[in-house]
Amino acid sequence: MTPASRYLTKSRFILACECETKLFYTGKAEYADHKKDDPFLAALAEGGFQVGELAKLYYPGGYEIETLNHEQALEQTRKLLQRESVILYEAAFRHRSLFLRADILIKDRSSFELIEVKSKSFKGSGPEDMLNKNGTIHNNWVSYLYDVAFQKHVLSLAFPQMRIRSYLLLADKNARATVDGLNQRFLIYKQNGRSRVRVREGITPEMLGEPILIRVPVDDIAEKIYQGRDGSNRDLPFAEWVEYLSVQYERDRKIPTELGSKKCSDCEFRCTAEEERSGLKSGFRECWREQAGLTEGDFSEPLVIDLWNSNRRDRFLNQGIYFLRDIEPELLQPKDRNRGGGDGKERGLSVSRRQILQVEKARNGDASPYFDAEGLKAKMEKWVYPLHFIDFETTQVAIPFNRGMAPYEGIAFQFSHHRVGADGRIAHAGQYLHAEPGQFPSFAFLRALKRELEGDRGTIFRYADHENTYLNIIYRQLREADSRLVPDREELCDWITTVAHPTRSTRDSGNAWVPGNRDMVDLRKLVELYFYHPGTGGSNSLKKVLPAVLGSSKFLQEKYSRPIYGAGLEIPSLNFESWSWICSDQTGELIDPYRLLPPVFEEAEEDDLEHLVSDPKLADGAAAMIAYARMQFSEMGDAERRAIQRALLKYCELDTLAMVMLWEYWVRELMAG
Ligand code: SF4
Repeated sequence: MTPASRYLTKSRFILACECETKLFYTGKAEYADHKKDDPFLAALAEGGFQVGELAKLYYPGGYEIETLNHEQALEQTRKLLQRESVILYEAAFRHRSLFLRADILIKDRSSFELIEVKSKSFKGSGPEDMLNKNGTIHNNWVSYLYDVAFQKHVLSLAFPQMRIRSYLLLADKNARATVDGLNQRFLIYKQNGRSRVRVREGITPEMLGEPILIRVPVDDIAEKIYQGRDGSNRDLPFAEWVEYLSVQYERDRKIPTELGSKKCSDCEFRCTAEEERSGLKSGFRECWREQAGLTEGDFSEPLVIDLWNSNRRDRFLNQGIYFLRDIEPELLQPKDRNRGGGDGKERGLSVSRRQILQVEKARNGDASPYFDAEGLKAKMEKWVYPLHFIDFETTQVAIPFNRGMAPYEGIAFQFSHHRVGADGRIAHAGQYLHAEPGQFPSFAFLRALKRELEGDRGTIFRYADHENTYLNIIYRQLREADSRLVPDREELCDWITTVAHPTRSTRDSGNAWVPGNRDMVDLRKLVELYFYHPGTGGSNSLKKVLPAVLGSSKFLQEKYSRPIYGAGLEIPSLNFESWSWICSDQTGELIDPYRLLPPVFEEAEEDDLEHLVSDPKLADGAAAMIAYARMQFSEMGDAERRAIQRALLKYCELDTLAMVMLWEYWVRELMAG
């Protein structure tokens, strides 16, 4: 019999849907795995635990199979299924080496309802809204639907005599909470290393209000998957494919697959330099050695998958081009931006010119930064002092705070603000953090932000679109709010229109405004147009740009290696005392300033977070989102809460200081030029 550790479970099956080779690396201690601990943190940040618990309340009276032991779970399930009708949570099933735990299973005589609960939001009304126009499955829904199809398949093999109907239970974006305080009814805690949710005592069906989860029947789509009509390009029919995967996994055989730009860039089995030094193996390197013939020395070269913002990367891989240096620049079809400047179009690098720059620097082994002094100077001349650098921390909470709100309402709970005066003096001028459990923070956040910025006409800087997007979200929330409860609603909305421009969704909702001349300046856009540093590895995330800039600038290194940063010092700070941002490790390498900060969480969770933060997609804001969720939904003492808050304030402060440092770097370069 297959040992439980070699069962093809639904999570292993979903992993194989991403890339079949991953099955070989998963669960092996000798390989780095950046998603190993993700489920807890991701579920915490996304509200997965609470949604799962809320779902059970919608199907009350069931039995939970609590044990983690596979055989015991199978036995308990078997016994309970002897009843004519029963509801089970986490029921366990096995067919040969296929194994699954079903979120909710309803048995009624000879039929099963299989309900897979996902905290993902859904704005449609039925399964057709998960399909493309040609009937294939929309990318956003593939993994969820394959998950259910797999479960239904295993269940039908284990119980061929039963009729099975399958459903996804999702957060309904069209629903509105009809009760206040719903999200505070579910508290998360850890027991023996396992995350649990405790529902507050005395909860009644009335307290839940109208449902905010929607049940979508997905049998027809599962049928498409079984028949290969779902748009996938699998060679084998579904049942044979599942069998093949389970046999390969059981025998611990690696399934070689083609390299792919997206899947390999995001691969969780890629080691960080630190993990490599600690002796962990890199599944990523194994694949690239085996599939592309790379040698160990080759991994210090930039790869094709690092090419910025390109949809040609897979084409290059298919042609056997694995390194940036091997791309012929003309293959990138250079196209200039309109550089006249007088036609209203931006000057600066086009996407293809920036890609070519990246390739040429790789071909020439040139590690020096590119800097378009003329382009940037033209922008800087329009800036008005004092300059304001702001950064928001935000999240989306699955279960609404208040009545009238939809699941996954955007919430802004923290900002930091650095100010640079006309005399060049820098100060950490302000901050805000609202993390009181159960309180919707966005309007108080906005009032505090307005107070910070309304005193002058200085230029405001953001990094990327996030701050503009969130001001639009708050604008909509204000418009939808009861003006009796938010008496300054008009004033707040008017102020937003002076510092933000309407997003497409604001325009679509008929709320557009003409942007004022204080519309925030996006520093990231300026990076894309006028600046490229090979040390960023093709990423424009501030978390990558900051270390690259610090590494290049003797001025910044000299200035910030002195303890000038802190309350009452040359650069006043609201959270630091006598702090130096430039430190080197034993090898003489500069330590990333973010690594100098105290941990946000306890040690074990901090290790997990390292992986999230090393993932560029999650890096920006991941720590803050998770910390916010912890403060909202888990029990903690005042001391722990204060420690998390102090750490969050420091992280957000560094986000805006990093923007200031980038600005200082550019100013110095211009002066030097
Ligand atoms: S490196 Fe690429 S091919 Fe290898 S496991 Fe990761 S995603 Fe799959």
